[in-house]
Amino acid sequence: NEGEVMSIDGNTGNVYVGAIPTVDATISGDFATVMGWADEIRALKVRTNADTPRDAANAVRLGAEGIGLTRTEHMFFDADRIPAMREMILSTDVEHRTAALAKLLPMQRSDFEGIFKAMEGRPVTIRLLDPPLHEFLPTAEEDIKALANDMGLTYEYVKGTIESLHENNPMMGFRGCRLPVKYPEIAEMQTRAIIEAAINVKAECGYDIVPEIMIPLTCEFKELKYVSGIVKATAEKVKEERGSDLKYLVGTMIEIPRAALTADEIAKEAEFFSFGTNDLTQMTFGFSRDDAGKFLSYYYDNKVYESDPFAHLDQKGVGKLVEMAAKLGRSTRPDLGLGICGEHGGDPTSVEFCHKVGLDYVSCSPFRVPIARLAAAQAAIKNPR
Ligand code: PEP
Ligand code: MG
Repeated sequence: NEGEVMSIDGNTGNVYVGAIPTVDATISGDFATVMGWADEIRALKVRTNADTPRDAANAVRLGAEGIGLTRTEHMFFDADRIPAMREMILSTDVEHRTAALAKLLPMQRSDFEGIFKAMEGRPVTIRLLDPPLHEFLPTAEEDIKALANDMGLTYEYVKGTIESLHENNPMMGFRGCRLPVKYPEIAEMQTRAIIEAAINVKAECGYDIVPEIMIPLTCEFKELKYVSGIVKATAEKVKEERGSDLKYLVGTMIEIPRAALTADEIAKEAEFFSFGTNDLTQMTFGFSRDDAGKFLSYYYDNKVYESDPFAHLDQKGVGKLVEMAAKLGRSTRPDLGLGICGEHGGDPTSVEFCHKVGLDYVSCSPFRVPIARLAAAQAAIKNPR
C-alpha cells in the first residue's frame, strides 16, 4: 500500500517486504583481481561525476581516480540554501546580490572541503553554476506569494521577475558561462569557495590539491577569456589574502558545436577541455534531451536510428566534433588535458571511442566506474596507442 516500505533486488527483481539491510557495493575477490588486470592494461584514466563527499568516496572505492565533474547547482536546492539563492536572483542591485551570495559562500566552501577530503588529493574538476536561474524559483501561485512575503517584496515584483526569466528554449538560453557575463558575482563567490576550500584542506590534511575550475557552455574564445578573467582575478586575490601558492587550473566544457569548431582558439584560454557530450549531442542533433524520448522510439522502430544517441555516442557526427576539437585544442596547447563527462563516459563503446581519439580520461557516475575501467582495458587491447 502507499507509504509502505519494500525492497527490490536490482539483480534478480525479487521484491521483499520492508527495508532489508544492505551494504555498499565493493570490489573484492575475483572481481578485484580482474579489475586489477584491467588497470594494468588501460591507457585511459577513469574519473567520476560526483556532487557530494558520499558519492565521491563511494566512487573511489569502486576505483575512480578523480572527479571529472562536480555539478554545483544541486548544492543550492537544499532547504537551508534555496532562500539565499532566491534572494540573489531577486536582488535589484549588485549590493543585495553580493550580500545574498555571501550567505552561500560558507556553505559552498564546506561542500568543496568535503569533496576535497573525500578525494584525498586526487584531481577534482568543479563546474561553475550551469542551469538557467528560473529553475531556482517557484512556479505555483501560493509559493510565489509566500516567497514575496518572506523576502519583503511585492507579489508583483516577484511574479514579474519570474516572468522575465521565462525562456522558450531554456537549454539554449541564459545559462552556463552566460550567467557570469551578466552576474560576475556568482563566479566570484564560487571561485572563492573553491580556492579557500582547497587551501584549507591542503593545510589540514596535507593533500596536494590542484583544483580544476570548469566553465560550462562556452562557445566563443572571447567569452571564455572574459569569464576565466573573473575566475583568475578572484583566485589570485584569495591566494594573496591567504598567502598561498596554490596551483589551480581553469578549463572549459566543450558542449556546443561552435566550441568544438573553434577549439584551437578556445585552447588559448583553457588548460583543459571536458567534453559535455549530453549537451553536445543535444546541440548537434538539434533535439532536446528532455523531449527526444517522445519520438526517438519511432526512429528505432523504423530503423532510422539504431540506438539512443544520448546513451551511445554518435561517433559519426558528435564524435567527429570531439575528435576534431581534441586535435585542434592540442595543436594550440600540446599538454591540454582532455576528458569526457557526459553520460557516454560510462558506456563501453563510447569509452573505446574516447581511447581511440586520445582523451586522457572518461568520467562517469560512481556505479559505472568498474564498467569504464574494464571497457578502457578492452579498448587498449583492441587499439594499442
Ligand atoms: C553534458 O552536457 O554532457 C554535461 C555533463 O553537463 P550537464 O549534463 O550537466 O548539462
Ligand atoms: Mg552540459
